[in-house]
This record gives sequence, structure tokens and C-alpha cells, in this order.
Amino acid sequence: MSRADLSAPLLSIFEKVKLEYLKAKKSGDLELARRKALECAKILRLLAENSPGLRDLYLEKASRWIRTARSLKQESGAEKPRIPPLSDNNLKIGLEDLIAKTRVKWNDIGGLWEAKRLIMETIVIAGLKRPESIKPWKGILLFGPPGTGKTLLASAAAGSLNATFFNVSIDKVLSKYFGESSKLISALYSLAREKAPSIVFLDEIDALTLSRRRETSDALRRALSSLLIQLDGLKIGGNEPLVLTIAATNAPWDLDKAILSRFPRRIYVPLPDRRASKEIIRICTRGLDISKLRLDDLAAKCVEKLYSGRDISNLCQQAIWNMVRDVNRDLYRLAELPYEKIRSMRLKVRPLLMEDFEDAFRKIRSPLTKKDIEAYERWNEKYGEY
Ligand code: ADP
Repeated sequence: MSRADLSAPLLSIFEKVKLEYLKAKKSGDLELARRKALECAKILRLLAENSPGLRDLYLEKASRWIRTARSLKQESGAEKPRIPPLSDNNLKIGLEDLIAKTRVKWNDIGGLWEAKRLIMETIVIAGLKRPESIKPWKGILLFGPPGTGKTLLASAAAGSLNATFFNVSIDKVLSKYFGESSKLISALYSLAREKAPSIVFLDEIDALTLSRRRETSDALRRALSSLLIQLDGLKIGGNEPLVLTIAATNAPWDLDKAILSRFPRRIYVPLPDRRASKEIIRICTRGLDISKLRLDDLAAKCVEKLYSGRDISNLCQQAIWNMVRDVNRDLYRLAELPYEKIRSMRLKVRPLLMEDFEDAFRKIRSPLTKKDIEAYERWNEKYGEY
């Protein structure tokens, strides 16, 4: 599951604001047209930040819109240009695009039995009728090394509830929406309530840490307090719509107390052990013949190399490609055929062999060390759920 890329929502906001500009210009409202042109410039700057490959193009376009706004100012004799904030309505349109479709099911996740059980339990308690003093959790914190299945768990939770899934990278929101982040967070929760049941997945929640930063901006403080207000204000159960926040971090030790205290349910999502590694290999090779593989040996090697679920998935992809290339030697030549003809042909496959994995193991390296893992384990002992 990929993280929320903000360029698609920003582009749709841009198109909308551009239309508003054209309309204003046509109707002769030059002051409104000037403000819309500045808004277009602002969105293009955000796009530039969001798309490194197209940065210069977007910045160049942004300067053109600034020039347009300047010329309109001269025509209308308006006040000093000021880049106006994105309107609430536009934020909401952008947010609609943060809604991710998820078809992930619990059995697409290898291992993590305890984490799955705790999340399922949280969802069930939120839904059941219960005595007033039993309060359901409003949020869950998932912590652990990168690529271990935190996003998958949140997606599966949403999938199992048939809930609206908001997949939000806090780091990206902060860098792309700048001063608008706090507004975006409130708008996000109001949309989540509207579209309940909802799962709001806040990835890289540590980006909201104030205490470890040398510099903290007002925008960051406002964003944090906006999130805390939303979390404190959420009511779950009874006739309230279910809005569950699942936050994730690879750096739990960075979190401020203010955030930690809102997430008393903290679940460790560790690297897969042998049994889990075997399950992940099975999931990643579905539909292929794996009867010739020594799964125990492969799993043991994954554990020894400190592989995450993502590493194992990459390993399997690599091994599958080795097999595909082996039995479809001149695959690229087919590119000369008409596409319809290609569609009618079938890719050749053979059973996966241990040799297919050998070169894949050489290529895939975990960025983690034993020390990193110990740090997660220590944090888990001190602050974790179990
Ligand atoms: P995280 O959010 O912890 O960084 P993700 O959930 O995004 O990690 O996992 C990245 C990818 O790695 C997934 O899309 C999936 O292909 C694979 N993966 C990771 N963990 C598992 C797992 N436990 N079971 C199956 N696949 C996994």
C-alpha cells in the first residue's frame, strides 16, 4: 500500500481554482481573478515541493501565475498582492483524494498474530453495546521497523469493516501544506465523521514531535494541537459514528508525551520470525508451484538477514523474475507484436527453485542492525502493550 501522494489531490484543486480564475476574469471581477491566480501559484509551489522530478516546471508555471496576478493588480488597482490560504472547500476536495481504496484482508498479512488480535479486539469493543465505564480506545499506535506491515494492518482493519480508509503521511502533509496543516487535520476528521465508519491512518506520526526539534514553527504547533483536539473530541460507541485513528511510527522514542498519552494502546510490529517469514513467502508466491522450495531454510535465512516483510516481498519478486526470465528467454522480443496478440498469449512459468532465491538473497540487504532491533524491543518493554 503506497503512502498518500498529494500531487493528485493538488492537481485536481489546481484545475478547479484555474476554472474559478477563468470565470472571474470572464465576468470582469478582476480582483477575484487576481486572488485566484495567486491561489494557482500557491498550489503550483506545493506541487513543486511534492514532485521533485517536475519541480522546475511547476515553479516556472507558478511564476507565470504571479505575473498574471501582478498584471491584474495594475488593471484593477487592487491592494498589495498576498497569497491567500486555500479555501476550506478546496481542502475538502483535496482530502477526498486522500481516501485510499483497500482490498487488503487479514489473511494477506503474514505473522503479526498478536497485533491482528489486538486491532480486531479494539474494533469489536468500539462496536459492542457495553457498560458506560468500559471505554473503547479511540486510537492505536503501531510501532516497529520500516516495512513490517503497519500500513497493511491499518488497511486490513479498514477492509474488514468496509470502512473509509484515509491513508495520510503526516510528514508529507506538514511539508506540502505548510501553514495549512492544522486546517487540513480538522477537515480530515470532519470528513472522516461524515464518511464513517472510517479508519484514519496517520503514518510517520513522529513528524509531529516538537521536543526533539531544534526549530519548531507555529505551523507545526498548530498542527499538533489540532490533532490533539480532534483525538480528544472523538467519541466512540453508542450512536456515534466509528472513527478509529491508527498511527504508525518507525521512531517511537521520538514521540512527545502529548501524543503518547493519546495512544495508550501501543502495539509492537516486529520483524517476522521464522514462522511469520514462511507465511509471508507463501503469500508472496501465491499461484506458483513452491513444492520444490525448502521453506524452512528460506525462512531461517530471512530471519538471519534481519529481513522485514517488505524485504521478503522484494526477495520473492526477485526470485519470481529469475524464474520468469529463465523460461521466457526472449520475452522482450514479444514487444514487437501487436498488443492484442500479446494479450492472447500466456507467460510461461515453472516451479520456483532454491537457485532462483540465491541471487535474490545477495541483492536484498536489510538496512537494520541487531542494535536497532534491540532499541525497539527495549521501548516495547517500557511502553508497549505486551
Ligand atoms: P510499514 O507500514 O510497516 O512500513 P507496509 O505495511 O507498508 O510497512 O509493508 C510494505 C510492504 O511489505 C507491503 O505492501 C507488503 O508487500 C510487504 N509486507 C510487509 N509486512 C508484511 C507482512 N507481515 N505480511 C505480508 N506482506 C508484508
